[in-house]
Amino acid sequence: MLENILGTRAVALVSLCSECYFVNSYMDLIYKLTKLFRTFPGIGERQAKRFVYFLLEQDENKIKELTAAIIELKNDVKQCPSCFRFAQFRNDICDLCFDRKNSKILIVLEKDNDLEVFRKTNFDSKFFVLGGNIPVLEKEIPKNIKTAELLERIKKEQPEEVVLAFSLTPDGEHTENYVKKLLTGTAKEKNIKVSTLGRGLSTGIELEYSDSDTLTNALQNRR
Ligand SMILES: [Zn+2]
Repeated sequence: MLENILGTRAVALVSLCSECYFVNSYMDLIYKLTKLFRTFPGIGERQAKRFVYFLLEQDENKIKELTAAIIELKNDVKQCPSCFRFAQFRNDICDLCFDRKNSKILIVLEKDNDLEVFRKTNFDSKFFVLGGNIPVLEKEIPKNIKTAELLERIKKEQPEEVVLAFSLTPDGEHTENYVKKLLTGTAKEKNIKVSTLGRGLSTGIELEYSDSDTLTNALQNRR
């Protein structure tokens, strides 16, 4: 059943005991996959193990479908060189950047999931995914944060306004302050307004869990 994903040797090592229904194996295979799942965001040891045992119970077709989907995802989904979101696209930039290239407002967000919830508001804007936040306790700026790319895009496109849309968490506010400072010179020079989200958002809650009405309000009341 698991031959295709784990290899023949692995299948020989993993089997279900007919008497006690416990999985007999060299524990390293279960351990190996558990360890891999633990690298996923928000997944702890117990949940990682539940995934592994769930997979062991699936039939071959389901495992094939899952592994094919993961490989397809990696092959066909690219990072847009303009907004840095992950998407499938044929042109140089993603469809969202292409369709909204004339928009005068650029919303800067932490991650792809935040972009998806803002997109649902139908607020006319372009987007930029910063790639994460800057933790308060972090002394250095994390490598995945695309500050240079953001500055470059703003200088090139010169939007009328840049909206910083980060979560109302300590790390989100820290990121907002950092980006605000970063943009000060360019904003002044190019006469670009830099605003932040208005009231209505819940403190301590990540933006991706906010609903469209709340986000529309926060966008309309931006400061
Ligand atoms: Zn894009």
